[in-house]
Amino acid sequence: YLKEINRKAHLPALTTDRYRVRVEANIELLEEVVAAKDNGAESIGLYRTEFFFMNRDTAPEEEELYQEYRELAELMAPQTVTMRTLDLGAEKLGPWFAHPEQVNPALGLRAIRLCLQHQELFRTQLRAILRASAVARNIQLLFPLISGVGELYEAKRVLNEVRGDLERRRIPFDPDLRLGIMMEVPSAVAVADLLALEVDFFSIGTNDLIQYSLAIDRVNEHVAYLFDPLHPGILRMIKQVVDTGHRAGIPVTVCGEMAGEPIYVPIFLGLELDSLSMNPQSVPRVKNLIRRSVLAHCRVFLTEVLNMRTAEQIRMSLQEMVLRTF
Ligand code: PEP
Ligand code: MG
Repeated sequence: YLKEINRKAHLPALTTDRYRVRVEANIELLEEVVAAKDNGAESIGLYRTEFFFMNRDTAPEEEELYQEYRELAELMAPQTVTMRTLDLGAEKLGPWFAHPEQVNPALGLRAIRLCLQHQELFRTQLRAILRASAVARNIQLLFPLISGVGELYEAKRVLNEVRGDLERRRIPFDPDLRLGIMMEVPSAVAVADLLALEVDFFSIGTNDLIQYSLAIDRVNEHVAYLFDPLHPGILRMIKQVVDTGHRAGIPVTVCGEMAGEPIYVPIFLGLELDSLSMNPQSVPRVKNLIRRSVLAHCRVFLTEVLNMRTAEQIRMSLQEMVLRTF
């Protein structure tokens, strides 16, 4: 049976009534491209670029980043690679980066905030990504932890300056490079309609969206049992992002750990997500469940779920739904 699942992993993920969801991989290292392809991922939905900035004594140089990004783009071409700009807390950057003491890093100087406060770091990475985008024109750019339109304007301004600079120096990049943002901060969800006007796609980071919405530190073991993707408040927020994105005509992905758990497939299908991005090993099982599902049933199921009051109720009916699908 497992063999069967793995063999079919290379087929597209279509429901029995022919709704197609792109199934993509999350990776952190170039080497993981092999696992992504072997497991049938259709593209790289999230490349976490943090690795190159950690555990080192000096800041990474543009050329080093460029070589890595170029190779990744070449290996995946013509499939897309969604590259997320640095999503680290200052404390993780190592001795080359003088950082403040932070009592609460998850709410502190990290990700896009850090990049906007240390723009040379941001510009170096953007230049490397833009240059790599010229190679196969299959790169998409993704900003993490965006909390509102003002912050997005600032990030886009830096991006446009870098583009202008490359143009002046006649260094090629993909002029149609698509830009997306992670939807993982509750305030961004609240203004999703405004953000949708400014970007080409949304990617929902459920790990952080749950952390920030339920006020549960995702690395604190004492409250880990409260970290619940099926909290009705979370499902409503995900629905709001998907519906708002679609109304504005942009695709929406889920790239948090939730996307790689087969049990949530009926919900994501009911919501009509465009793609799901997950760790490579999850791809075959998620594709398998999608192929056994009926979109029409998932839609009805989702309406029922959205009327339920507790995560417990939702979890029970979801388990029944998944058992019925097999
Ligand atoms: C997320 O927050 O869901 C996400 C995909 O990003 P990370 O886990 O890297 O914060
Ligand atoms: Mg995140």
